[in-house]
Amino acid sequence: MQLLRVYFFCQKGFLINQVREKIYFMSIQLDGKKVALETEEMLRERVKALQEKKGFVPILATILVGDDPASATYVKMKGNACERIGMKSIKVELPSSTSTEGLLDEINKLNLNKEVHGILLQHPVPEQIDERMCFDAIDAKKDVDGVTSLGFGRMSMGEKAFGSCTPQGIMRLLHHYEIEIEGKRAVVIGRSPILGKPMAMMLLNENATVTICHSRTEDLKDQISLADIVVGAVGIPKFIQGDWIKDDAVVIDAGYHPEKCGDIDLDQVIERSLAYTPVPGGVGPMTINTLILQTVEACENS
Ligand code: NAP
Repeated sequence: MQLLRVYFFCQKGFLINQVREKIYFMSIQLDGKKVALETEEMLRERVKALQEKKGFVPILATILVGDDPASATYVKMKGNACERIGMKSIKVELPSSTSTEGLLDEINKLNLNKEVHGILLQHPVPEQIDERMCFDAIDAKKDVDGVTSLGFGRMSMGEKAFGSCTPQGIMRLLHHYEIEIEGKRAVVIGRSPILGKPMAMMLLNENATVTICHSRTEDLKDQISLADIVVGAVGIPKFIQGDWIKDDAVVIDAGYHPEKCGDIDLDQVIERSLAYTPVPGGVGPMTINTLILQTVEACENS
């Protein structure tokens, strides 16, 4: 009898451990598509309320310079997202020969247009244009894409500002899934003005210990291996190897490439991760969603 009882307990203990291990190792998919869809429902209500109270809906002005097909697709997707929540968008399309002055004129017109609540200048612009000067010409109140130096500075100082949409979208995703940030070691690979740099500042603002890596980083693999939160924003398909990432890390892949993969070789890491963003369907939908969310906020503030 005693023997049977011991056997029973061993079995039970074993089963409990199995269940525990299963729960412990089940990684969370940070589903950007789902969060974006849920947010759209809420935004539709807010747009309706604006229409009823103020008699107008938010308007996003998009500026596309040149004929890059990928940029044209992104602008179209942004216009479609506006339509889905009942907002309006107006398109400004300029030839690839546009000068910095020509583009500044267009931005200034939109800054002065009271009907426009948000301005998006699609990146990248043709080489002859001073992109930074043009981004910085956008009125901070209409900088719903979070690209101005002023907005970056304010955000970095913890002041109110529209965040750059991709990193802001990533933060929203981390918050939605209640991923712990404070005290965690975060490694951001990439330091571009629209992604890596603001990402690092946003994580720092939430008390992560942040390392920024870039093309001159000498011990990239070692840095990544220490990270509790890894953000890949390199622009090279599957550049970050899954086996560089430790078990139970939160893996955020900001990249998206025509091969339908990101900047991280996710296959090698998903099962060992605490949480991960799928590609596609992770960071991408959150970027556009953050743009429309911030445009609605800009209209509410106006
Ligand atoms: P980017 O401007 O080209 O910046 C790439 C960054 O990666 C740079 O800081 C660069 O370092 C760094 N880098 C390049 N090679 C490296 C290497 N061998 N080792 C370490 N770092 C390296 O690109 P981005 O605009 O930030 O975009 C990054 C990725 O995010 C791309 O895959 C892009 O498609 C994606 N993205 C997605 C969205 C979205 O909505 N989902 C939006 C924007 C971007 P240096 O500064 O030293 O050159």
